[in-house]
Amino acid sequence: MILRYYADAEVREWHDHTLRLLRTLHDEHGIDVAIDRIDEQHGPITDFPGEVRHATPEDVYERDLKRNRDLNQTIDQTPSEAFKRYGKFDIAGNIAVVDNEGTVRWASTLPGYADGYGPGAESRTAMDFLDDIATSPSNRICVSCLSLLNGDEQFCPNCGYELP
Ligand SMILES: [Zn+2]
Repeated sequence: MILRYYADAEVREWHDHTLRLLRTLHDEHGIDVAIDRIDEQHGPITDFPGEVRHATPEDVYERDLKRNRDLNQTIDQTPSEAFKRYGKFDIAGNIAVVDNEGTVRWASTLPGYADGYGPGAESRTAMDFLDDIATSPSNRICVSCLSLLNGDEQFCPNCGYELP
């Protein structure tokens, strides 16, 4: 599995922090990370421990998000509601969990932090998700194989990793 960042987050601080957290996740947990740069705003990305590609929001939407049934089951909205609001792509700044077949299994639907979005947004925001899994233990995702968790498991149902 791989964590994919649809860059760049609009706010520079979010973008820089996302890059830091992705490096941490790679270095400390051995998680594969990648970037699809769909809205370049904040200068070159150097020294990144994964692939950095350039793409358009439309390419990413068609490939990863549109009519994605797995994703539809793990997010509250439909992918089109979440990422193509009123016909306009709204993807940059989000994070996706991609399985070994290349299918997006979960994605944040709000860039940045839950602050400002109101109660209950933590489960949907990119920064809260990354902060949560970078500070092990996490009950949202198995840091060993990146399987999504319900939060009440003692072992990862996918790889058997003992959850803290
Ligand atoms: Zn696992």
